[in-house]
Formats: sequence, structure tokens, C-alpha cells
Amino acid sequence: MPGTYQPPAPPGYQRITGSDSIVRDAGGVGRLLQRALREARRSRCRYRVGAVLASGSRIISYSPNVPRNRPTIDFRHATFHAEEAALRRVKDAAGLTVYIARINAAGGSAMARPCSRCQQALLSAGVVRAFYSTNTSDVGCLFMRGC
Ligand SMILES: [Zn+2]
Repeated sequence: MPGTYQPPAPPGYQRITGSDSIVRDAGGVGRLLQRALREARRSRCRYRVGAVLASGSRIISYSPNVPRNRPTIDFRHATFHAEEAALRRVKDAAGLTVYIARINAAGGSAMARPCSRCQQALLSAGVVRAFYSTNTSDVGCLFMRGC
């Protein structure tokens, strides 16, 4: 199962808790999560999520989540999750880190832990780490196998 592998936290990150783990730091993490938040603000979906794929501090791809169909066609409002949408825009995601942010109705940070389908997609694509926003100012971190 993705996310169960727990190597040591990378240098500069302090692991605080959890089976995933919540990390504090984090120079580049904060900046790239802010960028993901900006993507989330562009989303027209009910749950507004944004994702950024980066190699170190270099942004490779980004996207908000997007509706699959017009609401009149798809009554369930199915979406391509932001992670999926960002992955589709890169040829090779091996070694990249994904930053995922969600905003609530008030524009604040909300939990954006990747769902199991996205975890699988990220893992298959070779993404090594996921940082995600939470309901607090803490940052969630998921280490993929092979990190
Ligand atoms: Zn997902």
C-alpha cells in the first residue's frame, strides 16, 4: 500500500507525528504549497484543490482539479483530481515531489491528503513525496516507496 513506507524525514524536516507524518519546516515547502493554494483558488469544483509537481524548487507542472463533464451531463460532479491533472501534463514524473493544497469556503487551508487512487497514480508515475495542506498550519507529508 502506498504511503506505508517510512524512511527518515529528509534533512531540514522535522517529523512530528503520524503514520504519514506531519512535518514542520520548511522553506521550499511553504512556497510551493502557496503555489498549490493559488491553483486551488482557480478551481471551479465544489472541493477546491490545487497541485504542483516540482523537482527541487523548480515547478514542472500544476493544475487545479477540473470537472470531467459539465454538471448538466454529469450529475455526480465527477472531477479529475488536481494530482491527476498535474500528472497528465508531464512526460516523466519520476523523482518529483507533489504539493497539494485545498481551500475551504472561507479561503483557508484544508486537508488535502491524496486519496488512494491518486496515491497509486503518483506512485506509478514515480513521484517520491507528497506534501499537503491540513486544517492547521502544519504540513502533511507522505513518503512514497522508492524515496
Ligand atoms: Zn485523488
